[in-house]
Amino acid sequence: MFEDALCELCGRAPDERLLTTRDLAWGQPGQFNLMRCRGCGLIITTPRPVPAEIGRYYAPWYDGRPLESIARERAESPLYRFIHWMRLRVLERSGPLTAGMNVLDVGGGLGDQMACFIARRGVRGTTLDFDPATAAASLVRGRAAVCCGDLLEADLPAEAFDVVTLYETLEHVYRPRATLVAARRVLKPGGRLVIEVPDFDSPWRRVFGRYWFAMMTPTHLHHFTKPSLRRVAESAGFAAVRHVATFCPLESAMSLLIAYRTATRTREADLTAGWNAWPHVPALLAIGAWAVCGDVPIQAAMWLVGRTGIQTLIARKK
Ligand SMILES: [Zn+2]
Repeated sequence: MFEDALCELCGRAPDERLLTTRDLAWGQPGQFNLMRCRGCGLIITTPRPVPAEIGRYYAPWYDGRPLESIARERAESPLYRFIHWMRLRVLERSGPLTAGMNVLDVGGGLGDQMACFIARRGVRGTTLDFDPATAAASLVRGRAAVCCGDLLEADLPAEAFDVVTLYETLEHVYRPRATLVAARRVLKPGGRLVIEVPDFDSPWRRVFGRYWFAMMTPTHLHHFTKPSLRRVAESAGFAAVRHVATFCPLESAMSLLIAYRTATRTREADLTAGWNAWPHVPALLAIGAWAVCGDVPIQAAMWLVGRTGIQTLIARKK
């Protein structure tokens, strides 16, 4: 059910243990180490669930709610709309995104990011997600090519895309380097690759440790710092164009919520379960107040000095 992971870049077992944790979000079985490879700095979750078992760690994510309604909520949510717009802005700092450009979003999930690219810039979109139910509920069905599968096995044409994006995706794959090599194959010469992943060097990660919002073991199989992400991209045949910290407004509030849920053994659904949720109201109000009065201004300052929990690398195919 579990396997020991090797460093994909160096082909050896990672040797420096950083911490031991478990599935804090949903309480699924297993104990996982975050191990750093001294050869290349990549941080790897090991042992990790074997690929055939990883689905059970994703199963509780949407709490059994219909994916179509989650997709609609996202399309209308001010927070998600802000994230989509911000990603578009970051991408356009490396060059324009214009009507008719071919864009592939790997790990495109419910299609909310692609919906923004299509609505605002008129791109020709393709999304790829490994989960058939998620792909079936995609917001861009009918407006983009919605594919289901893994980029390593997907039957996509070579040199077909101007831009390939991986938002919150590369940390979930078993073979990040091979995934970027596959992204390189489908990019046109000089095409752009956009990778957004958590930044393990975030100051809030040092504060919260295993409760940090982006730890998310075991679904996060790799954990990147800025140097290690760049190393993986360069080893796959890309040259970095821009590498920035991404504004991440609720980093410490979300980490506080994970610490609170773990300490009180509370499921996410219990926090919104009507009258049963009332014992949690004081803590939720306190975390909410912190989010607005503390987290947002602190994160804005951290973003200005380039030290948030999310990083975006834009690179060109060499
Ligand atoms: Zn290594």
